[in-house]
Amino acid sequence: MTFDLKSVAEFVRKAETEDLLDRVTVYREAMEPAAVDLMENELWRRGLSPQEVAEHASERSEVVRRADGSPIRCTHRDRSRGFACDRPAVSVGWHWFRLWGRVPVVPWPLPRCKEHGGGAAPPADGGE
Ligand SMILES: [Zn+2]
Repeated sequence: MTFDLKSVAEFVRKAETEDLLDRVTVYREAMEPAAVDLMENELWRRGLSPQEVAEHASERSEVVRRADGSPIRCTHRDRSRGFACDRPAVSVGWHWFRLWGRVPVVPWPLPRCKEHGGGAAPPADGGE
């Protein structure tokens, strides 16, 4: 895989602050160091202090991780925007995958971020 610094720089300029904060904290280890630098510079340019970045990291401390330590992402799909949520999941609920919308065949993992019902209560069955 080649690392395209220019397209990363373009992405970073357009990204939401929350997205960048997740990337430099939770997803940091999965990224190229040069990409982390770009994102931290952009956050600094937007006026965020290192303390604010650290606070975000502690807010995300309850993120669910795989056995290898990599964070699991929320799989909520925002139909109006047409893409999946990228925030780290704080809980993994289960719902039944239903055949023809009726017959429960297999339990399906449902990672959810705080925004999409993760955390306290498991998400309602069949919400997809
Ligand atoms: Zn989400």
